[in-house]
Amino acid sequence: MTSTTTLLETVTADGGRTILDAATREPIGDAPVHTVADLDRAVAAARAAQPAWEALGHAERSRILHAIADDIEANAEELAVLLSREQGKPLNGPNARFEVGACAAWTRAAADTPLEPEVVFEAGDSRAEVHYDALGVVGAIGPWNWPMMIAIWQVAPSLRMGNAVVVKPSEHTPLSVLALVEVLQRHLPGGVLSIVVGDREVGAAMASHEGFDKIMFTGSTATGRRIVEASAGSLARLTLELGGNDAGIVLPGTNVAAIAENLFWGIFINTGQTCAALKRLYVHESQYDEVVDALAGLAAQMPMGNGLDEGNVLGPLQNQQQLDVVTRLVDDARARGARIVTGGRPATQHGPLFYETTIVADIDDGAPLVDEEQFGPAVPVIRYADVDDAVRRANASQQGLGASVWSDDVEAAAAVARRIQAGTVWINQHGAINPMVPFGGIKASGYGQEFGVAGLKAVAAPKVIQR
Ligand code: NAD
Repeated sequence: MTSTTTLLETVTADGGRTILDAATREPIGDAPVHTVADLDRAVAAARAAQPAWEALGHAERSRILHAIADDIEANAEELAVLLSREQGKPLNGPNARFEVGACAAWTRAAADTPLEPEVVFEAGDSRAEVHYDALGVVGAIGPWNWPMMIAIWQVAPSLRMGNAVVVKPSEHTPLSVLALVEVLQRHLPGGVLSIVVGDREVGAAMASHEGFDKIMFTGSTATGRRIVEASAGSLARLTLELGGNDAGIVLPGTNVAAIAENLFWGIFINTGQTCAALKRLYVHESQYDEVVDALAGLAAQMPMGNGLDEGNVLGPLQNQQQLDVVTRLVDDARARGARIVTGGRPATQHGPLFYETTIVADIDDGAPLVDEEQFGPAVPVIRYADVDDAVRRANASQQGLGASVWSDDVEAAAAVARRIQAGTVWINQHGAINPMVPFGGIKASGYGQEFGVAGLKAVAAPKVIQR
C-alpha cells in the first residue's frame, strides 16, 4: 500500500480523497482510496501472518493488547481531536473523549476476559471438552458514527483470539480509523492488522472474498442483507450489528425530573447518530406534557456547535445524506400536523451540517419519523393510554436492537422489559454499554453478540475434543 499516516494527517502517494471537517467543512487531510487489488494484498498478508500470531498464545497476545491500550491512552487527546473534526462529535459530553476512552477500555477487556476450554460432558471414562481456537482471518467493516470505538469492538476480540484482521472503515470517516490502526500496528507483527480504505465496492469485495473466515459488520440493515448474500460462497461466519429504531416507554407515575437527563442523553447521544439511541418515545397520557416540556427544557440548555469548543456537547450531522434524512422526516411530521415543540430546522449558524435539537409531539405510529430510523437530533414523542398498547407498538417495528422502560418502580419496569422484543432492554437508561455485557440485535437489527465471553466466542472456532 502506498499511504503513510501520521496521527493527524494522511499523505498518499497516489492521490486520494480529501476529508472535510464535519463542523467547518474545511479540509482536514487526505485519505487513500484503496482498490480490490489492495484488499487482496492485505488478505494475503493476513493469511501469512495469522499462524504465528495464533501460536503466540493468549498470555502474550493479552500483554500486547494492554500495550496497545496504554498507547491509545498516551495519544488520547490527539485521537479525540481528529475524531471530533472528522466525525463532528464534540470533545466533551458522551462524545469524542468518551469514545477514545472506550477504545482503551474495550481493548483491556478483550485482553482480560478469560475463555477456558469447557467440559460439557463427563461420565466414567467419557469426557467432552469445547476448545476455542482462532478462526483465521476476520474482515471488519464499520460505520461512520462511532468509527474508532466500533473498529476496536471488532478488532480487539479478534486479535485476542489469535485471528489476523483486515479493517475497512466507512468512506465518511477513514482518518479516525487510520490513526487508531496506526497506534495498534506499532505493537503487532506485520500483516496481523491491515486497513483498506476503500469505497462501498471494497466492502462488497470483502463480503464475497474467499480469504475471510468471518466478517464483523456494523452498519445499515440494507448493507447487512447484501453481506449475507455475498458471503454465501465463502460461508464466512457473520456478526451483523445493524440499524435500530429503539422504543422507550415511560410508565405512568414516574418522577419525570429524576429521569429527564438520562432520557435526553439516551436520545441525543452523539447528536442522535447512535445505533442504540432512543428513537421513538412512548409516554403515558397522564405525564405526556411534563415529559415533552422537560425534554424541550434540556434541549434549550445543551450547547451545540463546533466540537473543538469545550463548551459544546452536541455537534453536526456527519454527512449531507444524513442531514437530508433528518430534514425529510421532520418536514414530513410538520406537514402531517405534528407539533414541533422545539427545533425543526437546520442550524446553519453553526455550519452547513447542523440541525437543531428537535422534539416532535402529537405524532403517532405510521409517521415516517416514528417508523423509520432518523439517526439524528430529532425525536418523536408519542402519547399512549394503555401499557399493553405501548408494548405492542414498541414491538411492531422490524428492528430489534435496544429498548428502554422508565419508572420509579424498577420491578414493574423489568416486567414490561421482559415483554419487549430487543437485544437489550434498559431500565431508566438507554444505550449504556459495558465491555463485559453482551450486546447485539434481534429481528432486522442483525444477529450475533459482541463483548464479554460471548464476543470472544463470536470470533473463535469451537472445537470439541471427545474421548
Ligand atoms: P452503511 O451500511 O451505509 O455502511 C457501513 C459500512 O459498510 C461502510 O464501511 C460501507 O463502505 C460498507 N459497505 C457498503 N456497501 C457494502 C457492501 N455491499 N458490502 C459490504 N460493505 C459495504 O452504514 P452507515 O451509514 O455507515 O452506518 C449507519 C447505520 O449503521 C445505521 O443504520 C445504524 O443504526 C447502524 N449502526 C449499527 C450499530 C450496531 O451496533 N447495531 C452501530 C452503529 C451503527
